[in-house]
Amino acid sequence: MPVQPPTPNPSPREPLSLLALNGRAAEQFVQRLGWPPYRAQQILRWLYQGRVREVAQMTDLSKAERALLNDRTTVGRSRHCRVLQAEDGTRKFLIGLEDGLTVEAVLIPDGSRLTLCLSTQVGCTLDCTFCLTGTMGLKRNLKAHEIVDQVLTVQDRLEPNTTLSSLVLMGMGEPLANLDAVADAIARLTNHRWGVGISAHRITLSTAGLASRLNEVAGLGVNLAISLNASNQEQRAHLMPAVNRLHPLRTLLEACRAYPLPPRRRLTFEYVLLGGVNDQEPDAKRLVKLLAGIRCKVNLIPFNPFPGSPYQRPADRTVLRFQTILKQAGVDTFIRKSKGRDVLGACGQLGHLPDLITPDPIPLALTPAEAGC
Ligand code: SAH
Repeated sequence: MPVQPPTPNPSPREPLSLLALNGRAAEQFVQRLGWPPYRAQQILRWLYQGRVREVAQMTDLSKAERALLNDRTTVGRSRHCRVLQAEDGTRKFLIGLEDGLTVEAVLIPDGSRLTLCLSTQVGCTLDCTFCLTGTMGLKRNLKAHEIVDQVLTVQDRLEPNTTLSSLVLMGMGEPLANLDAVADAIARLTNHRWGVGISAHRITLSTAGLASRLNEVAGLGVNLAISLNASNQEQRAHLMPAVNRLHPLRTLLEACRAYPLPPRRRLTFEYVLLGGVNDQEPDAKRLVKLLAGIRCKVNLIPFNPFPGSPYQRPADRTVLRFQTILKQAGVDTFIRKSKGRDVLGACGQLGHLPDLITPDPIPLALTPAEAGC
């Protein structure tokens, strides 16, 4: 066998990304450098609380320590970001990843509240037929630090004296199909000592229904939302084929019933209302029966269209009738306002449209609020 010649001038090792280290890995890293353990927390605080982009900004490390870190590491924050501003104040952040892919996060103001919707995958593992992200396929899972970086990127651009009220993992992707990274990201987001310091009860994870993993969510301390979207098995098979094949409606509801809900918390069920498909009176009545005995509330989401989608948004009175039936049966039911539709920033509208620049049926008021961040 021919022997491979040695590579001339092997390229220097890629610098280590500090943001890619979780708490444990940061401790091991400082230990390898022979530094005292508390240096790990110092560095992490700079990353998640100081939101620094350069090692040079870590001013409580000595000059020599900064020089050493600078030599071996980078901070690892994303470099590219575009912001699209919708008329209702919703902002969609398009964040460039290391490998050239883009991830989307949506900041939704509502009165004095500010909710940030985060993505967990580029594209999605699943194929829900009413969701634009679902039509993209899965490009790849996000790493934990790429999930956290969405929060840091948005926090950098908040007006002074404003803070995020809540985080929802409801953007691109299925969080439970990337649970290790999601759990790691949540640990960093909720750590009050050195992390971002957002309480777990202000975070909601939404799943299309990977029933076998629900118990693992319980351990994370966050709220759980389940996208039910159908009132019977046949509908769900049609609307959410992949997840329903793995976990049919009955199995999913059994898992919800068995979910170890902490006191005073309840599950949220999301239900996308698709005109003439799952928005009729019998659907509402079946839904009431399905949810009997589960401590929960329901969020109704009138369908947000995207170019080429086969579904219609129901009329407002149909949405209200659906809500009334549930409420009269004693189920707390809310109608989700569709925010940011003009920048394709509403539920189910995240993803790439190859023909975004060609005329399409949705008026796109794409207003780049900032070009490159
Ligand atoms: N995969 C996760 C999170 C992403 S989808 C999940 O399924 O829960 C977030 C929410 O948006 C889900 O409740 C989903 O049912 C809803 N959704 C998807 N496409 C939509 C659309 N076009 N209009 C309205 N809601 C949509």
